Amino acid sequence: MKKYFRDIFQGIWSVLIGMKVTFLHLFTPAVTIQYPDVKLKLPERARNRLYVNMDDCIGCFQCDIACPVDCFAIETAKALPTEDLGTTSTGQKKKLWVTKFDIDIAKCCYCGLCVYPCPTECIKMTDVYEFSEFDRHQLIYNYATLTPAEIADVKVRTGEYEKEQAVKKAAAATAAAQAKAASAAAPGTAPAAAKPAMAPPATAQATATVAPGAPKEAPPPTSPTEPSL
Ligand code: SF4
Ligand code: SF4
Repeated sequence: MKKYFRDIFQGIWSVLIGMKVTFLHLFTPAVTIQYPDVKLKLPERARNRLYVNMDDCIGCFQCDIACPVDCFAIETAKALPTEDLGTTSTGQKKKLWVTKFDIDIAKCCYCGLCVYPCPTECIKMTDVYEFSEFDRHQLIYNYATLTPAEIADVKVRTGEYEKEQAVKKAAAATAAAQAKAASAAAPGTAPAAAKPAMAPPATAQATATVAPGAPKEAPPPTSPTEPSL
């Protein structure tokens, strides 16, 4: 009987010892938050999801070159001489259509190396960190602002222009080659005489200059005539 009550007391005592830490935390401030209802404020320079302002992108590929894990897929097309794409907010003239600008954020290691070389400062890391997806393909972000129809149109126009330029260049090269061949084969067109190595010495008479008003040089003396007897 005595043992029975001792076991009950030991059980209650063990529970009280185990709950001691729990009781102490009832009176200390909480260090956890009720996420997602409550969110921590991230540091000012936190590196999370990338953002690209396509209005300022000039399609220079600097971000693509800097990326160590090949997150970028960029395609551009040259604007025609008659097209004005405007300027960026930093004053640079835009000369290329950016027809594709994809970033595979699933590959991204958040190193920030793509941000620094951008000449127009249009790519940056934001503090957005809630972008999980069930399908990793959903993590490929497409930033290009052109519609598929506009992209197709740009490609057609650029392709036609490049073909025209190639034809013109080929025609100019052919014409130049024909002109060269014709001038080489034309009869009577002797090759240009080689210049003498040295100019012939000028005569003293030819080179002498007479100052205005100066007395004329006396004629050369003639031999005296023989006196008549
Ligand atoms: S942060 Fe780093 S890994 Fe991510 S896209 Fe930029 S360069 Fe590539
Ligand atoms: S470096 Fe900047 S301007 Fe150049 S392609 Fe990348 S985002 Fe565009």
